[in-house]
Amino acid sequence: MPGPRLSRSRLVAASAVVAATAVVAVTTTAGAFGPNEQAQRAVKGGKAKNVILLIGDGMGDSEITLARDYTVGAAGRLNMDKFPLTGAYTTYAVHADGTPDYVTDSAASGTGWATGVKTVNGRISKTPGSNKAVPTILELAQKGGYATGSVTTAELTDATPAVLAAHAADRSCQGPADMAKCPTDTIAKGGPGSIAEQSVDHKVDVLLGGGKQRFDQKVTDGRYKGLTVTEQARKLGYQVVTDDRSLKAVKGDKPVLGLFAPGNVPTEWTGKAAAVGGTDPQRCVTSNPNRPAGTPNLADQTTKAIQLLEAKQKRKHSQKGFFLQVEGASIDKQDHAADPCGQIGETAAFDRAVKVARAYAAKHPDTLVVTTADHGHSSQIVPLEAQPPGLSSTLITDEGQQLKVNYSTNPPGQSQEHTGTQVRIAAQGPQAYRVLGVTDQTELFTTLREALRLR
Ligand code: MG
Ligand code: ZN
Repeated sequence: MPGPRLSRSRLVAASAVVAATAVVAVTTTAGAFGPNEQAQRAVKGGKAKNVILLIGDGMGDSEITLARDYTVGAAGRLNMDKFPLTGAYTTYAVHADGTPDYVTDSAASGTGWATGVKTVNGRISKTPGSNKAVPTILELAQKGGYATGSVTTAELTDATPAVLAAHAADRSCQGPADMAKCPTDTIAKGGPGSIAEQSVDHKVDVLLGGGKQRFDQKVTDGRYKGLTVTEQARKLGYQVVTDDRSLKAVKGDKPVLGLFAPGNVPTEWTGKAAAVGGTDPQRCVTSNPNRPAGTPNLADQTTKAIQLLEAKQKRKHSQKGFFLQVEGASIDKQDHAADPCGQIGETAAFDRAVKVARAYAAKHPDTLVVTTADHGHSSQIVPLEAQPPGLSSTLITDEGQQLKVNYSTNPPGQSQEHTGTQVRIAAQGPQAYRVLGVTDQTELFTTLREALRLR
């Protein structure tokens, strides 16, 4: 797919952004460059040394607004609100025949930006009809000499991280014991194996997240038969870390696999789930008794991942930088569970990772930083007098006001659903102008590829 050129309409839109930011004198956390200079530099295009792609899973405009209202107030601004260039993108999936499927899941949407190709829901970086593997942005970056990393609060084998370094007929094929829906992907059938096996086979330099249970499964065929995937990873040179202390201590002379929970990393915040007829007004609890001490947070993992990737390239005396994806996964998972406090706490944790990325880019302006979502989700802010037929909850925000949130995409007791809305995409750095206007998720692939000059 040819990359979009800097069209006249985009130039006009970009100039408008520059003009709009020029009249506002804003102090910025982005260091040497104010928003005006950031926008001008971003519009110029150019080549990026590094790319940091931050994905809030299920983080539609509603989810962003909820986290903003609750934590910094309606008039406040999150870190993710401070990018100089912002656009919207469409997220739909396709059916096997190529016709649109208006509501995507995380597998199809991730495949969109990872490969530039739309696919069917559930598919991991393979085509919709013919089920053929498509090269991913991470594979191209590796080939181009960049260091690569992936950080998530989900299992490392979950759809959003999986799309970078695996190709599977179905997202459920996470470990060697989970291959029921991927008969042709098994090693016995000459395929690449489960998502866990493929991720370590790819020798991604830094893999941090949950999903230890998948890596504890035994490989059933081939060279590593009888070993767990973790043992396979060690044979491939990985150092394995399991908590904050060992993560902090690890040096980057070998690839790093961090497995910080058996499944998803437990949420940072807790509270009452939404209920039929609403909840009493509640304050969220900013801790979780089920989150073990020593579980690293997403911002610290992001900081460490950047350090490790940078150190690797320095050791190699490479002029090339790195590609890093960071996922706040449980915004989506708590939205499915209609748990507003869990959801907002994960959005706030993700926003702190955005702050880490922007602080790095402030010192390294040749870094493209993109923050976006893979799809919209259920939660909606409704008036206090609204009487939603399904699940709702009233929160008392940090600024002391009541806020009502409604989850009504499915009957109570069922998982709430993704929505088909367009979502925000915001960026700074080389090629960031490409996010302006209304684009499609697959165009993000082109943006990343052009920024790193990958072919
Ligand atoms: Mg995800
Ligand atoms: Zn979901």
